Amino acid sequence: MKLPTTDHYAVFGDPVAHSKSPRIHRAFAAQTGQMLDYSARQVSAEQFETSVQDFFAHGGKGINCTVPLKELAWRFATRKTARADAAKAVNTLALKADGSILGDNTDGIGLMTDLTVNHGIELSGRRILILGAGGACRGILEPIIGQRPQSVVIANRSPAKATELSLEFADTFNFDTCGFDGLAGLSFDLIINATSASLSGDLPPLPAGLLAENGDCYDLAYADQATAFVRWGQINNARHSLDGLGMLVEQAAEAYLLWRGIRPQTASLIALLNSERNFQAH
Ligand code: NDP
Repeated sequence: MKLPTTDHYAVFGDPVAHSKSPRIHRAFAAQTGQMLDYSARQVSAEQFETSVQDFFAHGGKGINCTVPLKELAWRFATRKTARADAAKAVNTLALKADGSILGDNTDGIGLMTDLTVNHGIELSGRRILILGAGGACRGILEPIIGQRPQSVVIANRSPAKATELSLEFADTFNFDTCGFDGLAGLSFDLIINATSASLSGDLPPLPAGLLAENGDCYDLAYADQATAFVRWGQINNARHSLDGLGMLVEQAAEAYLLWRGIRPQTASLIALLNSERNFQAH
């Protein structure tokens, strides 16, 4: 009789010790009654390729990639989903039965699910501002366009990077771009912070009046306390001022679906993780 085996999964990143992914995926495994283990592995960009090969050669079935490995993972994957190619970044690698390694990007759909399903925030017809033009911004642009917003502005500390990004997507949408000083006098219904400023407690310089009445704020970063941008949203009377914890759980659920063929329930886990924090995002 063949004994059931445990499948191995991991998140690779540098740094990675803070990652909540092991806890999230173990909770999904318990909820769906599946046998797997999930660990966090400190892997630098230099170690990435050999570490991935080694992991898959020793029974690994799937890897999540976080900073600074998403672009390397996109280059490494032998097959890629359309959304991974649009993002030019991969956060999920899956070893397929034919030996190929599929790269996917579940960040965009994770954000959309948290915004629209978990919080009922509409994007259609709204004026959207994205702060930042790095990998995360790249990953969320296509799903945002898919919601048919009225307009999207990308503002970045280095404005040339925002312009570059908008040119890449010029066939599908007409983004306006600027530096933070170009935001004076403008007003938006939804502001998404896709900078990593929150990770160091910083906030891009945002002018008064930037958030329209009944506007919403969403910080892709998350922490055990309200981030500087979540606090900015609260001070500026945002209807919702949220951080990226829900996005993190939703992108993990999509990765789990890709690996295990079943999408776990997310609401109770998000509620549990929220209850353990020093503030309630709403
Ligand atoms: P990148 O390193 O690719 O990009 C960082 C961006 O932040 C750049 O646009 C950079 O501007 C800008 N930036 C960095 N520091 C500052 C600062 N002090 N002031 C203003 N702008 C700044 O990072 P990612 O795009 O991969 O990640 C961005 C954020 O999204 C991170 O906080 C990350 O944790 C979060 N994230 C959350 C996820 C989730 O599931 N919740 C998933 C993916 C990402 P410049 O170009 O000028 O350097």
